[in-house]
Amino acid sequence: MPHDTPLISTIVGGLVLAFIFGALAHRLRLPPLVGYLFAGILVGPHTPGFVADQSLAPELAEIGVILLMFGVGLHFSLKDLLSVRGIAVPGALAQIGLATLMGLALASLLGWPVGGGLVFGLALSVASTVVLLKALQERRLVETERGKVAVGWLIVEDLAMVLALVLIPAAASIADGTSQSSDPLAALISSKLGLELGIGGIIGLTLLKVAAFVALMLVVGRRVIPWLLHWIAHTGSRELFRLGVLAIALGVAMGSAKLFGVSLALGAFFAGMILSESELSHRAAQESLPLRDAFAVLFFVSVGMLFDPAILIESPLPVIGTVFIITVGKSLVAFFVVLAFRHSVGTALTISASLAQIGEFSFILAELGVGLKLIPAEGRDLILAGAILSILLNPAIFALCETIRPGLEARFGRKPAPTAPQASTADPRAEEPLSEAPPTRLTDHIILVGYGRVGSLVGQDLLASGQPFLVIEDNDSHADALKAAGVELIRGNAASPAVLERANLAGARSLVIAIPDPFEAGQAIAQGRKLTPALTIIARAHSDAEVEHLTRLGADMVIMGERQIALEMIAALKPQPAPAL
Ligand code: AMP
Repeated sequence: MPHDTPLISTIVGGLVLAFIFGALAHRLRLPPLVGYLFAGILVGPHTPGFVADQSLAPELAEIGVILLMFGVGLHFSLKDLLSVRGIAVPGALAQIGLATLMGLALASLLGWPVGGGLVFGLALSVASTVVLLKALQERRLVETERGKVAVGWLIVEDLAMVLALVLIPAAASIADGTSQSSDPLAALISSKLGLELGIGGIIGLTLLKVAAFVALMLVVGRRVIPWLLHWIAHTGSRELFRLGVLAIALGVAMGSAKLFGVSLALGAFFAGMILSESELSHRAAQESLPLRDAFAVLFFVSVGMLFDPAILIESPLPVIGTVFIITVGKSLVAFFVVLAFRHSVGTALTISASLAQIGEFSFILAELGVGLKLIPAEGRDLILAGAILSILLNPAIFALCETIRPGLEARFGRKPAPTAPQASTADPRAEEPLSEAPPTRLTDHIILVGYGRVGSLVGQDLLASGQPFLVIEDNDSHADALKAAGVELIRGNAASPAVLERANLAGARSLVIAIPDPFEAGQAIAQGRKLTPALTIIARAHSDAEVEHLTRLGADMVIMGERQIALEMIAALKPQPAPAL
């Protein structure tokens, strides 16, 4: 190619290597994100060979953050957000405060000034949006109560960081005696009106801008954005609809960041949340999915790129201290805060594991701290090392939480007090998180996976014929109907061995897979076949390739929806025999 194309080479290099190492990690039974980070280290400046553009990669990753937060907003209503505020606000603030103190303590041990220690501590206190959301999505926890608490907590952290990012430069300049604010509006006020805003004024101005943003979104955005999407939907053009969804997500994020100084992620979350009430939200989520996943991968690549492995040899003890604060210190704080609010041990563990990592905000704070000469360059390297190691450890921490849960439940009690004064929600299902239901007592039963368009019809027939069965479903919306019909429900992803074990797969007669995703269906089938060779497995598919895949994994019968539709159509076209006289 005749000219330099850094954007294209960064996208291509990042995606191709992430794919190769992600697939390799999968083969080695490691989470794919380990492969993505490794790909990042390879294209980073600290290893030989191709070096991707270091300023473009994080910017591309931001697109992933925007689309992820937009996607979460689409599943989140204002009511959901308000319902978790009781725990999310004090929880996040307590965690930020205590984690900052721990960071400050480590920084003083390293001989840094207090200001630097505070910035360092703050950087360790705030979790990465991408890592948290990916972890929740993989475990299908986003729409559960504990997932909502975790997301609410993240939003509060995000808001606190918006404030921190304007306050740190202001505080640093006031301490210097230069008294300059990085906020353009504050600078304008001081230059035009000759009015110096103190720290109080800057906090007030920032809060005012955030409030103005939220008010604008709730009053104007709530009407205009759904209307716009409906209008595009009526054009009948799928391409325009996709474009509209992207334009809304990215446009609102960018606009709110430029105009109101809130983060891109927060702007996107609000755009999504406003759309969540519209019936088109589901389609909007579907349309933004592929791009979202691709750009989220670039996030991990860009984190890997920043990492200089030399720090592990040069300052091992400070690195261990940093990682300890992020993974152990912060988790313990979160665990006890959640328990103090009388939520279950399962919820406390999910929140602790979700937040035991740091990411994008920490990098911004680190850059800011080094730029303002508050922390030495070593501080930034420690934050980067802490980020990459904590992200790498995150899947293991989730696994560890699952292992220690039964022991902790025995110690701290299984269920929260029903009269919990701070219970953040009135939803009675709130404290029945996914994995806490006891194993079934059914044997020689039918396991029905999925209770949507297909599964519910099968279920009704099983109910009418009185056959023993239970349902595995990961969406809460069917829970009430099943409960009313007296059908046992195991909430969770059927691809998970723990869920299948609770459904007593080993003692079941048949496994009926009525979910559309062939990858997840395949995992359940493979496990069923491995555990119980005599099990009858019936599955659903949408193409010949899927039929072949599921049959190869051990399904006895795979019914392809489209073929059945065609057969029905053919039958309907056949001339009806004249009734016999
Ligand atoms: P439908 O496509 O309308 O038949 O709906 C499929 C149903 O299966 C939905 O209710 C989903 O929530 C549910 N579902 C999809 N994937 C899984 C899974 N891996 N584990 C459990 N339930 C699932």
